[in-house]
Amino acid sequence: MDKLIKIKNLIKEFPIQKGFFNKKVGAVHAINNISLDIYKGETLGLVGESGCGKTTTGRCVLGLEIPTSGTILFDDIDTNNCDTAQKKELKKRMQIIFQNPYSSLNPRMTIGDTLKEPIAIHKHFSKSEIDTNIKKLLDVTGLPSTVLNKYPHEFSGGQRQRIGIARALVLNPEFIVADEPVSALDVSIQAQIINLLQNLKKELGLTYLFISHDLSVVQYISDRVAVMYLGEIVELAYTEELFNNPKHPYTQALLSAIPTPDPNNSASKRILLAGDIPSPANLPEGCKFHTRCKYVMDICRKEIPPAYNVQDNHQAACYLCRED
Ligand code: SF4
Repeated sequence: MDKLIKIKNLIKEFPIQKGFFNKKVGAVHAINNISLDIYKGETLGLVGESGCGKTTTGRCVLGLEIPTSGTILFDDIDTNNCDTAQKKELKKRMQIIFQNPYSSLNPRMTIGDTLKEPIAIHKHFSKSEIDTNIKKLLDVTGLPSTVLNKYPHEFSGGQRQRIGIARALVLNPEFIVADEPVSALDVSIQAQIINLLQNLKKELGLTYLFISHDLSVVQYISDRVAVMYLGEIVELAYTEELFNNPKHPYTQALLSAIPTPDPNNSASKRILLAGDIPSPANLPEGCKFHTRCKYVMDICRKEIPPAYNVQDNHQAACYLCRED
């Protein structure tokens, strides 16, 4: 499979400033040297606790955040080192679906105007061509044409997310960052939106970076899954392999927390993590997970574990996976 996106040694820090002169007194280390490829036509799930850097990763890929260092290549174009014309082109090819469809829609614009705005900015279509495109878009996202004259507050959460998806598709993108796209929705609506995303991927040949903390959803929709902890990718594998054979203690703990129909069974297997997640402004030395890991060894406190190959296409950054 061809690689659509190549992320190399990505680091993103946010400065902590204090005082009258906004002196830099520290930094929040949101992403700590991650390297990751996303293949054309795949859905890559990105999971981890809140604040682990999932959303910042997606925003860096889209160019909404400028990386502190590292490179991101989209179809071999360096997203942070390209000319204005290329940047404009990239904005068409990459889009985002937000977590909260209500706050991501302008309450003072009708849905018709919201959908037409990007076309008017990026493409030179006649009015009838724009109307035909919008009609097609409503068809594929399962929305009636009556939505066009309405405002966001007139819709339910599920309908608003369909509108958010329609807006993301307006410019025929190839790649979409879906940032917790169903976590603000009722469970009954979540399935509809997930199935819609699956169908659109097949019909339109899309590639997704699917960000979520809900492992059941990620298991259902993703081809591969990357697990993040404190700004690092700690495990990466094909979905079935990761869920059947998790190697990193953090992944094992995350998977053990997925609810099962048998409460007695799930309670006996649940791995409880001790302590809180450390502050990204004050990261631990060595393995970032060592403060909560029951297998911690001396080396874990001093050196960052590299990503070991567990099997073909399965890597875990843990000294337990080292072959001595
Ligand atoms: Fe635990 Fe050490 Fe593995 Fe980190 S490297 S997850 S501390 S065993």
